Amino acid sequence: MSDTASSKRIPITTLPVVEKQLGDAKIARNRAGFDTAAPLRKPDWIRIRLPQGNAVQELKAKLREHALVTVCEEASCPNIHECFHKGTATFMILGEVCTRRCSFCDVAHGRPAPPDPLEPKRLARTIADMRLKYVVITSVDRDDLPDGGAAHFAACVRAARAASPGIRIEILTPDFRGKGRMERALAALAEAPPDVFNHNLETVPALYREVRPGADYQWSLDLLKRFKAQHPGVPTKSGIMLGLGETLEQVRATLRDLRAHDVDMVTIGQYLQPTVHHHPVLRYWTPDEFSALREEGMAMGFSHVAAGPLVRSSYHADLQASAAGVTDSAG
Ligand code: SF4
Repeated sequence: MSDTASSKRIPITTLPVVEKQLGDAKIARNRAGFDTAAPLRKPDWIRIRLPQGNAVQELKAKLREHALVTVCEEASCPNIHECFHKGTATFMILGEVCTRRCSFCDVAHGRPAPPDPLEPKRLARTIADMRLKYVVITSVDRDDLPDGGAAHFAACVRAARAASPGIRIEILTPDFRGKGRMERALAALAEAPPDVFNHNLETVPALYREVRPGADYQWSLDLLKRFKAQHPGVPTKSGIMLGLGETLEQVRATLRDLRAHDVDMVTIGQYLQPTVHHHPVLRYWTPDEFSALREEGMAMGFSHVAAGPLVRSSYHADLQASAAGVTDSAG
């Protein structure tokens, strides 16, 4: 998947897992190392304003009512208070254990349990009970499954729509990399297309080996383009993080690549290191630099560009989708 360390995710399965590695254990076996750099001081603009009220506690209580475990706090998302305050959240399906070892991501690596066939119904019930209008559904990478978990995504979309007519659904998917996997995944997703299709590139191609081992830049671009070709009416979206060692020219080239693969919307945010074991932050890009990238992105033809130090893939996803013309499907 993507947008992991920094996004708001709520795993909705509690199935037992066979093997689970976190932090040092996960990253130590990452085949590509990165330079050990002295930690940078966080600039003032990476500050999180805590909203008033107890919305966070209320939402957590509701999640626990549904016997759900929240990893939003563990993921260290800088927007957790704002999102919980607004009553929005991103749901993580297909378990809490990933088959990949991305060096920026705080999700555990290991051998995941089989998909839970009851999960789509449980997710749909939760969304309906929380009266959400816009949801993002994401997952870990499931390289152990022939379709990468796409049929499970489709089942969740179907169940959520049945329980909450009018809901708008964005899916933030893995890359479905592997022989025949993308074809199987696209066929499965076509059974229940989302309102927005999101797949994050995460970084520029030169950094894939250190940042996203197991992934392939061109593969991810192809996935976005092929989904759009199948569903011309569904906006596509991607995101990258800055601060991992990329140059401005590399960022621009990546944005151009996204447009060349018909991607409609993009998110650009600052990478924040979830633990000392993860990829270090090599630079804090300034708010002005993010604003300039937003302008450049809009000039390239994206229908929406969210760029800022605290922007995350799911941050203001509802507003972004509205700007791209995705309206309440109930009218
Ligand atoms: S593929 Fe797995 S390790 Fe990589 S970002 Fe997604 S959840 Fe994290």
